[in-house]
Amino acid sequence: MDCLFCKIAAGEIPSQKVYEDAQMLAFRDIEPKAPVHVLLIPKTHLDGVRALTADNAAVVAHIIAKIPEIAASLGVTDYRVVTNNGAAAGQSVQHLHFHLLGGRTLGEMG
Ligand code: AMP
Repeated sequence: MDCLFCKIAAGEIPSQKVYEDAQMLAFRDIEPKAPVHVLLIPKTHLDGVRALTADNAAVVAHIIAKIPEIAASLGVTDYRVVTNNGAAAGQSVQHLHFHLLGGRTLGEMG
């Protein structure tokens, strides 16, 4: 499958990793929207939130449970976690990812 984030997860495309384990990877967004802007992805391919089912969603719990540790390692205590789902919502990469944004005051969501 020709998926950018699968290639990043496999190490075929370089990234600035901030955390990695068997199930997930966290790396810095190439166009950061905040001083801290990292992407949290499952290593296995899922198109996005709309691909989630009771059978494949355990990795999401794992990713979310790791956020406090990853945020602390990046020096932020206040942060936003966002996932875009579908083009009209701003999803440009069709591999499930959570944006972790912090390091500045974040305005209202639009
Ligand atoms: P979204 O638009 O919600 O699908 O988020 C995709 C994010 O991936 C955007 O914020 C991009 O800046 C980011 N991005 C695209 N290519 C790369 C890359 N090679 N390395 C890191 N981040 C990337």
